[in-house]
Amino acid sequence: MPLFLLVLAAGAQTPADRQKVENLLRQMTIDEKIGQMTQVTLGVVSTPQDGVLDPAALAKAIGEYKVGSILNVTNHALTAEQWRTVQAQIQDEAKKTRLKIPVIYGLDGIHGQTYTLDATLFPQNIGMAAARDPELVAAAAKVTAKELRASGVRWNFAPVLDCGRQPLWSRFPETYGEDVYIGKTFGVTAIKAYEEDGLKNPTAVASCMKHYLAYSASRTGKDRTPIYLPEIEMREYYLPQFRAAVKAGASTLMVNSSEINGTPVHASKYLLTDVLRKQLGFQGVIVTDWEDIIRLHTRHNVAPTPRAAVVMAVNAGIDMSMVPTDFSFFILLKEAVQKGEVSLSRIDDAVRRILLLKAKVGLFDNPYPEPAAAANFALPEYQQLALRAAHEAMTLLKNEEDFLPLRAGMHLLVAGPAARSISALNGCWSYTWQGKEEQWYPAGSKTIYDALAEKFGADHVTTTAAAGFTSAANYDTTALKAAAAGSDAIVLCLGENAYAESPGTIGDLALPDDQKALARAAASTGKPVIFVLTEGRPRFITDIAPLAKGILLAYWSGRKAAEAISDVLAGDYNPDGRLPYSYPRSSGEMVLYDRKPTEDIREIFNSDMTMDGYKPMWPFGWGLTYTHFDYSDLRLSSAVLSGAGKLTVSVTVKNSGSRDGKHTVELYTRQHYASITPNMRRLRAFKKIFLKAGDSQTVSFTLDRDDLAFVNAAQKTVTEPGDFDVYIGNRKAGFSYKAQ
Ligand code: BGC
Repeated sequence: MPLFLLVLAAGAQTPADRQKVENLLRQMTIDEKIGQMTQVTLGVVSTPQDGVLDPAALAKAIGEYKVGSILNVTNHALTAEQWRTVQAQIQDEAKKTRLKIPVIYGLDGIHGQTYTLDATLFPQNIGMAAARDPELVAAAAKVTAKELRASGVRWNFAPVLDCGRQPLWSRFPETYGEDVYIGKTFGVTAIKAYEEDGLKNPTAVASCMKHYLAYSASRTGKDRTPIYLPEIEMREYYLPQFRAAVKAGASTLMVNSSEINGTPVHASKYLLTDVLRKQLGFQGVIVTDWEDIIRLHTRHNVAPTPRAAVVMAVNAGIDMSMVPTDFSFFILLKEAVQKGEVSLSRIDDAVRRILLLKAKVGLFDNPYPEPAAAANFALPEYQQLALRAAHEAMTLLKNEEDFLPLRAGMHLLVAGPAARSISALNGCWSYTWQGKEEQWYPAGSKTIYDALAEKFGADHVTTTAAAGFTSAANYDTTALKAAAAGSDAIVLCLGENAYAESPGTIGDLALPDDQKALARAAASTGKPVIFVLTEGRPRFITDIAPLAKGILLAYWSGRKAAEAISDVLAGDYNPDGRLPYSYPRSSGEMVLYDRKPTEDIREIFNSDMTMDGYKPMWPFGWGLTYTHFDYSDLRLSSAVLSGAGKLTVSVTVKNSGSRDGKHTVELYTRQHYASITPNMRRLRAFKKIFLKAGDSQTVSFTLDRDDLAFVNAAQKTVTEPGDFDVYIGNRKAGFSYKAQ
């Protein structure tokens, strides 16, 4: 990449910023430099009382150890005002230091601003991916940025760009699902919205693409456990999201806590410097994940001493260490520099990037919370956006005999562990890390039971459920059967309560037995049963799915999830979500949609086998509607795509049913022959449209050769000449790509 492009990719630092940073670097002592590279958690500078700083601890961290960055909360979210006070106190302390370098604070605004009370929570990324609506992703990211900045915070540890190809993984809900193109598109969209208008604008925050690289590909699905990944697969499915994000100008990056093929990523000079800096051209700050440098010594056992761990990570390319509970990094790095194990130029390189980030977010101009930013908190329109997002995420998996929508006037029994749970509608990173403590959710947050009772009338809705997911009453099959007598249908709310990271580890994707027993009990009453699934990752429901007339997958859809669920069940919203993953059937059928033809079986030896290698419960892209969308007239602008030319693909979509609705049109391609086995399908483009009942629209897409590329056996991204199919809905057409 030419130098000027590299500079652009690093974001909008002005020449004055660069000058300022170089001046500072010239004056800084080694302690001051190493301090900038040190990030500690809020607990290090706090009293036991949440949101109350300890002046002596603060002076020690900033004055003595010169820390450049602080992150996180102690236990739970604070009010926006408390945050602003905390930020101002931290910056006051920084002002007392010799060079008055401001501190940069980072928080995880994963699906909205997680850690500010009353901030607006949207669907998790997995739900946003189901919505297939880039405009929505941008708008939600913008609100997140505003609410972070209103809290005085200018660095967001988002978006997660890990590709969700391992559904057991407890962080699956934070991903945009299994498809590379969706991950790339939405990751870039979120980053641009976070960083929009330049970071000095009080509506923007620095983004942090994470967790580089292939964190989601753990072999067992358990969080932070080893990944074994051939380079070709890494480059095909996990790297493109980061390449696109770097190009979009992401300011920072966080590293995968795990190891790939035995090398911890925090110690991988190949991945951090050769691939990320040199091949992708990333110029921003590389921050570690939680405690991950010392773990090179204590967990991965690749560094024989704690200092060796620090040397390894910094020399591999780390700029900032999320230490975060002590000052060991500062002490060890200083020793390493004195012993010549880390060069001063590597330190300068890291510190320069950190100071440039601080300049870029305007901290040198004014480090304090801005009144203009504070005004952007909790505006009423954010609630509307949260409702729209939750509506669009809802994915109707099953609707036997068009049983849904439920008719007005019906009597409903609402049961199951998610019926009166708020945490099961929001999931991880919701006012607390785990999202389970309902006392921190905003007043007025509704459960599914609340929303249905409002919609159908309290006298038409009964429940056997008690508040909270784990309450014993929620699993009482006898009570459920008894209560069903007077109802016309049972809405059974199943799935997962909130979890984040390692606490979300499970040994089995099957829905727990006590929930399946509820499904059987409900079905035994003879009443029609609807499942509402609030789950972060797909849980096997293969054996109970036939018991339900309708199944609505609600994911963890945030503040307005309950309202969106009741709107869909009542027919006040026509569902349009499409699965962002292949909903698996069983542990032996975990093939993804972009499979190879070689996943198909050619020889049948027993009754469990079928020819089709792709047998999900519901395929990627699945999602029912209360209307019908018909496709016709698939046309290509030419039968040949040549060289750097473009191909226009158009199709006519008609809403031939009786309800208005949104619909995502998806374009897939398949190459017939290539130098390595080609994928059977790859999503290359999508567009979400709205059609009134009876209306038609022609939807066009433009493809070029880059859209047809894949990683070849030499690890190069190439487009090979040959014949291609293009699929949209149930239509198919063919074209050839010629290199010239
Ligand atoms: C997570 C990161 C997060 C960090 C700070 C880690 O445990 O892996 O995603 O940004 O904590 O909260």
